[in-house]
Amino acid sequence: MFRPVVLFLLCLFTPSVAVPLDSSVGVQDFKPLLVGHDLQVELDPPAHNVKARDIISLEVGEEETIFLSFNTTLQIHSVKIGPQLTGQLGGGVPPALSEVSPVRVASGDRDGIEVSIPPALRGKKIFLVVSYSGLLYEPLDPFNEPPATITPEFVYLSPNAHWYPDLPNSMGVFRVTSTVPKGYEVVTHGSLVERKEEGSTASFLWEADYPTESCYLIAAPYKVTHYRHGEIDLYTYFFPEEQGLSESYLEAAKGYLDMYQRLLGPYPFSKFAVVENLFPTGYGMPSYTLIGRQVLKMPFIVHISLGHEIAHSWWGNCVIPHPAHGNWCEGLTSYLADYYYNELIGPGPAAEYRKDLLRSYASYINEENDFALEGFTGGSVGRAEKAIRSILYGKAAMVFHMLRNIVGDEHFFQALRKLYLDKKWELTTWEDFRLVFEGQSGQALDWFFKQWVYQKGAPSLGLGGVSPPKTEDGAFQIEFHLRQADPPYRLQIPVVLTHGAQEKNTQPSVVEMDSRTGTFSLESPSRPVSLAIDPDSNLFRRLHPLELPPTLDKALGGEDLLIVRPSGGSAKLLEGYEMAAHLLMPHGEVKADKEVLESDLARGLLILGGPENNLLFGRFPNLLPKGLLLAEGGVTFRDKKYESGASILLSLHNPFHREKTVCIFLSQEPEAIRSTARKLIHYGKYSYVIFVDGNSVDKGTFTEEINPLVHYF
Ligand SMILES: [Zn+2]
Repeated sequence: MFRPVVLFLLCLFTPSVAVPLDSSVGVQDFKPLLVGHDLQVELDPPAHNVKARDIISLEVGEEETIFLSFNTTLQIHSVKIGPQLTGQLGGGVPPALSEVSPVRVASGDRDGIEVSIPPALRGKKIFLVVSYSGLLYEPLDPFNEPPATITPEFVYLSPNAHWYPDLPNSMGVFRVTSTVPKGYEVVTHGSLVERKEEGSTASFLWEADYPTESCYLIAAPYKVTHYRHGEIDLYTYFFPEEQGLSESYLEAAKGYLDMYQRLLGPYPFSKFAVVENLFPTGYGMPSYTLIGRQVLKMPFIVHISLGHEIAHSWWGNCVIPHPAHGNWCEGLTSYLADYYYNELIGPGPAAEYRKDLLRSYASYINEENDFALEGFTGGSVGRAEKAIRSILYGKAAMVFHMLRNIVGDEHFFQALRKLYLDKKWELTTWEDFRLVFEGQSGQALDWFFKQWVYQKGAPSLGLGGVSPPKTEDGAFQIEFHLRQADPPYRLQIPVVLTHGAQEKNTQPSVVEMDSRTGTFSLESPSRPVSLAIDPDSNLFRRLHPLELPPTLDKALGGEDLLIVRPSGGSAKLLEGYEMAAHLLMPHGEVKADKEVLESDLARGLLILGGPENNLLFGRFPNLLPKGLLLAEGGVTFRDKKYESGASILLSLHNPFHREKTVCIFLSQEPEAIRSTARKLIHYGKYSYVIFVDGNSVDKGTFTEEINPLVHYF
């Protein structure tokens, strides 16, 4: 299944393949079983018309009829059925076919045709040949993606339109021959085997000899740029207006492909193409990515999302997560892409990324909404579903990080390479990961997978009983206690001791713990200064509320968020805040500033407007930090002045309840409020964000001064 994602995703691409249980890949042992499609498609863009013939190869059981999903607004000319004599797709129309009359089915979500299987063909390998034609047209609207449309500017046939007959929930190989007027380019998954121009038409043969769930077919007057990179054909299919972006995409793709081939093994496809879509999508497909025109221009797409998508070529598009056993592929892909790029910059950004994952889990997950990684069988996850993402992406990425720390870098990447080789095009479970990591490292890891993958939850750590340092022969001895909640986890806990008078030295070590409490001692070569438990967030754990900086995420995840509308200001300004309150309403209760009760003050709060607009500031004297100035036509924050169009989202500890957060969103300009309000939620991990005309120009997270897992001697 190819999944739509929304603009402004951090992880723009979600996995392109979600295989239902009864898939033909790896596990299906019942009929009917799809082998593949041989499609012949004629497109007439000015007439909005498609004329096609699909030779479907399949193995049927003893059933009398089979159902094929199909767009029944298209007109069927004939359906023919016959035994497979050659058994090969691509040999033209097979012989020995006889015509059958399909029955149209349209009930609930079953829209398609039912075909009777003659008794002589039951239990056999057969060909089914369906010829059809018709109009597929919706006017081009750059904000709304239709299932299909055929226009002179753009031809877009998505599987949601059921533009070819298919066995529901099947996977198969595809061979797609398309004919279009000269000047158009056609692209889909697979390899471009042939491109011909004859007279006024051009034809394209794309072949994919690996199983996929469905086929998108795209045609447009693209300008194609093609490079050969080793064994891989690299393409951009961009409209002339975006041609200037081609070079940066191709260069970035080369870099990602080289890196992942080195880390994981040969790229599984023969091509990689970046295809421009006129609709606002960011889809990841086997062997190409389909990116909306506006999205294509955003710088983070080349720097993060494109790499994430290319990593999905190995994990998700080739080694496929078993849908009944938990989606491991977002966690692994995030770890090897989004996280890994931070690691390549340095240990600081890598630790900060891990810390963000722990903050997100602590902000959004409670006893009720927690779940075990192995148990997640849900479908597509949008960026707004922060609770699910904090486990599916965040916790899972940390599980791979901890696994890497246990088995070491060499075994970690060797195990991934082996898994990729062994499980190509197969449904793969967390259990397969356990087996390959155990085999590679020689360590039993059932305890690891049991506590991190098969169980929900996370350990919480407490530090106490730190003894004053004792001197012995010039060295210093310290003792400390750690505790964790029930049931205890088996943990390798990083501990960093800082020591020395002038020049501070750090001494990292790891202590092991598998019970509720433990007493540990460390030796320090000079006088200890501080003792920090897991300061770089190498362990997946539930952060103590005091370890959480004030952020919008913390307020949103707190379940008692109160959004407070202002009552002062111009009508236009109030209208802007009204719209912001409306957009944020799904995340909390909305009240006007005059309605706020005394008992509301200790809740998580999101105050809309500044002191001159919102009466709530009267109840929180001195809430705004020094250095934040609001003046006509701009905002000054931390000595920087932001001119017109500026707005700020600021999060602070609630003075009435230290563990709650007060967020403030304000601007002097109604237009700035409008352009920013819908994006706020995507910046939830920061303590402050400055926007100008709706784009973030500065952001950061306040560091915590109180950390219960750090002891100062
Ligand atoms: Zn992804």
